[in-house]
Amino acid sequence: MKDTISTLISESELKNRIKELGAEISRDYEGKSVVLICILKGAVYFLTELSQSITVPVTIDFMQVSSYGSGMVSTGNIKIKRDHEENIEGRHVIVVEDIVDTGYTLTALMEVLGLEKPASIKLAALLEKPERRVKDVKIDYCGFSVPDKFVVGFGLDYDQKYRNLPYIGVVENDG
Ligand code: 5GP
Repeated sequence: MKDTISTLISESELKNRIKELGAEISRDYEGKSVVLICILKGAVYFLTELSQSITVPVTIDFMQVSSYGSGMVSTGNIKIKRDHEENIEGRHVIVVEDIVDTGYTLTALMEVLGLEKPASIKLAALLEKPERRVKDVKIDYCGFSVPDKFVVGFGLDYDQKYRNLPYIGVVENDG
C-alpha cells in the first residue's frame, strides 16, 4: 500500500512561525535563563529550530513518555520511559511538544513536572487539534491549529515513518 502525503503546512511557514515563537519567548524571558524539555521523539525538530531562535540562555533536556493503554487515543495515565536529567527546582521550564490532541498527555506531564517545584512552567506546542481537546491544557506558545486529521512530518510519525519530512502533511492511503 502506498501512502500519499498532502502538504498542510509548508517548510517556510513552519520556519517563519517558529522564529516568531522564539522571539516571543526571548521577550518573555528577558534577563532569565530557561530549561527547554523536549518530549521525544516527535518534538526534536521543533526543539532544534525553536532553540536556535531564542536569544536568552537555554539548557536543553529530554523526556520520553507513553500513554498506558492501546490504540490511537491517549488515556491520561502516562508512563515516563525516559526522565529529564537537569534539576528543575527554582528554574524556568518550557515543555516543548509536537502536538496537543486530546490534551491528556500534557495535562498529566505538566502535573508531574510541577511537583519538582520549577520557578515557572509553560508549554510550547508546534501543533494543536482544538476539535479533539478533552483536557483544558494551556498552550502558552502554539505554532498552528490543525484540523482533526492525522498529520506527519517535522518530527511527527506514522508507524515511525515520515518524521524527517521538512513540512507537515496529511497521510492518505491509496489502497
Ligand atoms: P494527547 O494526549 O494530546 O491526545 O496526545 C498527544 C500525542 O498523540 C502526541 O504527542 C502525538 O504523539 C500523538 N498524536 C496526536 N495526534 C497526532 C497526529 O495527528 N499525528 C501524529 N503523528 N501523532 C499524533
